[in-house]
Amino acid sequence: MRKAAGRPGNRPVAPLRAETNFRPPMTDSPVRVRFAPSPTGYLHVGGARTALFNWLYARKTGGTFVLRIEDTDQERSTDAHTRVILEGLTWLGINWDEGPYFQGAESPRHRADAERLLASGRAYRCFASAEELDAERKLAVAAGRPYRYERARWALSPEEEARRLAAGDPFVIRFAVPDAELAWEDAVHGRISFQGRDLDDFVILRSDGSAIYNLAVVSDDIAMRITHVIRGDDHVSNTPKQIALYQALGAALPVFAHVPMILGTDGKKLSKRHGATAVGDYQDQGILPAAMRNFLALLGWSPGGDREVLTGEELVGLFSLEAIQGKPAVFDTAKLEWMNGQYLSHTGADELLPPVMRQLDRMGVGAKGRDVRALIDAAKARSRTVLQLAEQVAVRLDASRIVLDEKAEKLQKKMGPAFGASLTVAAGALEALTPAEWTPDRLLEAVKHAAETHGLKLGDAMQPVRVALTGGTVSEPVNELLAVVGRDESLARIRAAMARTQDAAPA
Ligand code: GLU
Repeated sequence: MRKAAGRPGNRPVAPLRAETNFRPPMTDSPVRVRFAPSPTGYLHVGGARTALFNWLYARKTGGTFVLRIEDTDQERSTDAHTRVILEGLTWLGINWDEGPYFQGAESPRHRADAERLLASGRAYRCFASAEELDAERKLAVAAGRPYRYERARWALSPEEEARRLAAGDPFVIRFAVPDAELAWEDAVHGRISFQGRDLDDFVILRSDGSAIYNLAVVSDDIAMRITHVIRGDDHVSNTPKQIALYQALGAALPVFAHVPMILGTDGKKLSKRHGATAVGDYQDQGILPAAMRNFLALLGWSPGGDREVLTGEELVGLFSLEAIQGKPAVFDTAKLEWMNGQYLSHTGADELLPPVMRQLDRMGVGAKGRDVRALIDAAKARSRTVLQLAEQVAVRLDASRIVLDEKAEKLQKKMGPAFGASLTVAAGALEALTPAEWTPDRLLEAVKHAAETHGLKLGDAMQPVRVALTGGTVSEPVNELLAVVGRDESLARIRAAMARTQDAAPA
């Protein structure tokens, strides 16, 4: 399996444009939502689901969907990751109305907000060094006490603070968390409440003047006039801190909607152990974007009733924050493949042609002047991914790709000499057809007639032919299979199978 870190490097990276001095345009709908990924990795299915819920809500309400890249972790953020995230969203059909804005470009505003909080006494400078704090933490741990930062412990007199400022000593800015209830009505979970006294005075600005996540996010959400913060519920513990910041900055609170986390089928948090977690991997595995989007929408949300296959318009029309479930969602790959199979069977061959051709190319299988669309139409109903579909098409194009599967081997053993005899009967009947007669209807007639004349059950006559043509026991009806594989190629495959069975027969 490819390493996540290796992915972005595999794709060409174009330079990114940083937009600064954000000015939100006026729109009719007051709803403004944002997806705010950190470009420190690929687009995870959880992130894609968060983006999708924001997008659905924006489209449903006629609101604005803002894309903001939170690139403040300079060591781990890369343009390549940003590019992969944008590509993943685009592939899923999640288009944004504004952005991408880059959080890093907004650091002057973050600093100004920290200064405002400092000026109003809602924040203060803390000169305690990392070593001093660490020593205190160790003492607490040794004494078996939980460590807490204590405001009073590090407070300096105004003179001392002025002296250390003048001396150029490094300091961070901490937010003075009020001793008050910090609560909100979560659109998913209902009322959630924290007590300010349970929270430490957290750092909002590092000694190098860069903002910490909670400040940057609140500063940006206020400036971008975000009305609904829809994000993963791993952020619930940040929300009381952010609410306190909104209040201290004199801004109105947005609606918070914390969407449930995603688990694997074993009930554990979804991770690489469960298989692919990057949206790009599903793209590579031949999942169709519309199927992936439909599947992601149902992770933690349900339109009610038992309908599951829904068009993009239906998803938008039915979506509501209230219908998001509070309990964790389960990522079931088998269901995704089922969903993809549903989409494959309803998607036209024209649309499936490009991804199938790309895959055939990778497999080194040429179209040999054949009508690949017809082959796609013949095989799509029995494929769950584009890769499986391409494999089916490849087998129909190229006899060297035929491999007897387990069921075919079993059948051949079970039928014994009857297997070869059936092939002989079929070959005789089929050879009598001219190229012009090689149509599904005539083929069906011919095989039926031959089976009757030789006292064979239709299935017993057909199944060996299917095995000869594909190596498997499941396909479109045999007469259709013969038609798409073509006369000469079908007869050649049947003869080759007859030769194989004769070789295998005991002398
Ligand atoms: N950048 C944060 C993340 O990727 C999201 C912040 C938010 O949605 O408030 O987890």
